[in-house]
Amino acid sequence: MSWMDGFKFDLDEDCKMLQQAARTFAEGEVAPLAAKIDREHYFPRELVQKMGSMGFMGACVPTEYGGAGLPQIAYCLIVEELAAACASTSIIMSAHNSLCLSPIVEFGSSEQKKKYLPALASGQKLGCFSLSEPGTGSDAAALTCTVTKHGEEYIVSGAKNWVTNGPVADVCVLFATLDKGKGYKGVTAFVHELALPGIVRGKPEDKLGICGSPTCGITYNEVKLTKANILGEEGKGFNVAMSTLNGGRLGVAAQAIGIARAALRDALQYSKERKTFGQPISEHQTIQNYLADMIIGIDSARYLTLAAASAKDRGEKYVRQAAMAKLLASETAMHAATKCVQIHGGYGYVKDFPAERHLRDAKITEIYEGTSEIQRLVIAGSLLKE
Ligand SMILES: Cc1cc2nc3c(=O)[nH]c(=O)nc-3n(C[C@H](O)[C@H](O)[C@H](O)COP(=O)(O)OP(=O)(O)OC[C@H]3O[C@@H](n4cnc5c(N)ncnc54)[C@H](O)[C@@H]3O)c2cc1C
Repeated sequence: MSWMDGFKFDLDEDCKMLQQAARTFAEGEVAPLAAKIDREHYFPRELVQKMGSMGFMGACVPTEYGGAGLPQIAYCLIVEELAAACASTSIIMSAHNSLCLSPIVEFGSSEQKKKYLPALASGQKLGCFSLSEPGTGSDAAALTCTVTKHGEEYIVSGAKNWVTNGPVADVCVLFATLDKGKGYKGVTAFVHELALPGIVRGKPEDKLGICGSPTCGITYNEVKLTKANILGEEGKGFNVAMSTLNGGRLGVAAQAIGIARAALRDALQYSKERKTFGQPISEHQTIQNYLADMIIGIDSARYLTLAAASAKDRGEKYVRQAAMAKLLASETAMHAATKCVQIHGGYGYVKDFPAERHLRDAKITEIYEGTSEIQRLVIAGSLLKE
């Protein structure tokens, strides 16, 4: 057992084997591509295929629909291993799983599950989630993408923004309103193929970090859907969105822990090699304080994340715990990545070392699937309700 494993959590043998398989794959096949993925904004299609064959692209999908049927706790362990090697790759995989497959599993009809899940779970097709818009992010209930009913048809018009996997995805979970005046009660969720007349994808965003995870806006110009595309019930889409994001926060927490781990790994190695005042900088007490704070954050965030995942697996309440895990893990990732750059001195500020990439990659975990400000509102709100 190494520092990377943290506290002894009550993992069963299957989980331990999966974690080891994910680590071997991440270190052997993902890590060597990480710099290229970042520098060239390269979408690693070959890794998506391999993750499909390893069962990672349908991690929590029931086996009857071609998934691996894993518990959330195993999913989080896999995401962490991927993120420790390459944040972009972990996000491609976790947005697909958490944001597209999970609402189909939770809310889809058996026809929708049969239609969409097998190809998605094998990694043959890629999924995305379209909730945010140019004018609404945190205040998702204020969305304006509109759907109007014409007989059997549901016609969608409007603009969606920031769709992770959007430029390359095949299937989308979409949120649109039938009646804006009804607020969240007007929102309906849909699942649909992206190759439909009237759908236009914007150009990929030029982002600060996670550069291999492609993101774009999607415009719907009178796109024809039918009742068969409704995910869950008409007018109950906001519940689909919130439930999806509650679960998704576990995936973001795991990404953030992986990024923080990469920052600590690189900081440890560099601090043992770099000498100042006649000794490795790892011998200076201030540097040791930084390293100590990094591992404390990582172990605490992982413990909280696995506890929240395990609560979800047992069917217990986990919303506050998932928000706490996402908040702690993302702030830990930013702290660890900042200290990793600091420990590298000037070399932390240039692209010859991965330290600056960790810092750029870490920042997104404080923003998407609910910003840190929104997580604090969720956490305090749930406390005040008790
Ligand atoms: C790279 C990337 C990938 C993304 N992927 C997806 C995706 O796949 N699908 C999707 O639907 N969305 C996605 N998003 C959108 C993301 O979830 C939103 O950007 C995020 O929820 C914040 O919304 P916003 O950008 O509109 O900021 P705003 O909501 O405008 O917030 C701006 C600032 O105000 C703060 N704030 C807002 N309201 C409050 C409040 N009540 N109290 C205190 N502070 C507040 C926020 O915390 C933030 O600091 C992605 C975003 C990015 C950048």
